[in-house]
Amino acid sequence: MTKKKLNAALRDLSESAFDFLERSVDEIELSPKYSVIHFATAVELILKARLMREHWTLVVDRASDVSLGDFLSGQCKTITQADAIKRLNNACSENISKDAIAQFGKIAAHRNRMIHFFHEGIAKQADQALTEGIAKEQCLCWFYLERLLSAWSDQFAEFDAKITGIRWRMKQNRAFLGVAFDRLKSQIKADKKAGTIFQVCSGCGYEAAAVTELSDILFEKHCRVCGLGEAYVEIPCPGECGATLHIEANSGSYICKNCKHHVTSEELASALNTEYSSPTDVETPVNCALCSGYHTVVQHHENFICTECLGTANSAPTCEWCNERQIGGGDLEYSYHSGCEFCEGQAGWTHDE
Ligand SMILES: [Zn+2]
Ligand SMILES: [Zn+2]
Ligand SMILES: [Zn+2]
Ligand SMILES: [Zn+2]
Repeated sequence: MTKKKLNAALRDLSESAFDFLERSVDEIELSPKYSVIHFATAVELILKARLMREHWTLVVDRASDVSLGDFLSGQCKTITQADAIKRLNNACSENISKDAIAQFGKIAAHRNRMIHFFHEGIAKQADQALTEGIAKEQCLCWFYLERLLSAWSDQFAEFDAKITGIRWRMKQNRAFLGVAFDRLKSQIKADKKAGTIFQVCSGCGYEAAAVTELSDILFEKHCRVCGLGEAYVEIPCPGECGATLHIEANSGSYICKNCKHHVTSEELASALNTEYSSPTDVETPVNCALCSGYHTVVQHHENFICTECLGTANSAPTCEWCNERQIGGGDLEYSYHSGCEFCEGQAGWTHDE
């Protein structure tokens, strides 16, 4: 009985999330305020729905004071979006990247500003700059959200049709960035002539992402229209077919289109690892605080790189408490006391006793 009620509550929550998202993508031009509010709310609800599937207490603030009855009747305080993400990464071993977290945080802050300080009035004609800014923001959020949704496809399978519809509408909304692209066109053309390579941006779909070569196999592209930064690797297929594979950050399991070879994370790590090490060496594993990747970091020339999110850093300090190394988590100066991304430090240790 309770299980049934919980499942119904989870369904309602997910349903609500996709409703908000559907609305948001339709409102961008005529109700920009509600488009922002609804999009931000959808993001928050999707994260909470994913968390609730793990266990309902995870979405509740101060869970020890709350009964299941309170929860089901909506009489309890739920956690913030930032805490929901923390719990997904820590308790559910998800790898929500720092970039995604930052983008979701931005739209949440934007929602708050819209609620408090923006009066929409009756929109007679679209405010081009406003629409453009919102379209940009939604492209970036959707880029990260869509990745999560495809990683969680089993969890939201019953919403497949809705997600497909939203994906289609998001692509339509890219047209609102056409003016921005036109503004940049002549500069892009000039830079192309001068040798810069441009690729289609995965966020906004315009061929405006300028490529920087970081090493012979590691590249970065930055979109001039929507601002999305993406890293990718180009390596010959380890499955013998020899085709050049274009593997983007956080792409999960990568399958060669040519020979269907499944590229393992070990293969990607050995392609990126430029450090010779003898099999007898005992090396300290390196973690990634940028995506919560555990032992995912290898040395790539003078930098360290995470084989999961392709985040890079020029140093990998050691945590004084757990003795593991990590990138992307600051200099770990007080780590003996406060730990790192992967441990609680001495404070967490004594706190448990
Ligand atoms: Zn873009
Ligand atoms: Zn292949
Ligand atoms: Zn990483
Ligand atoms: Zn540690």
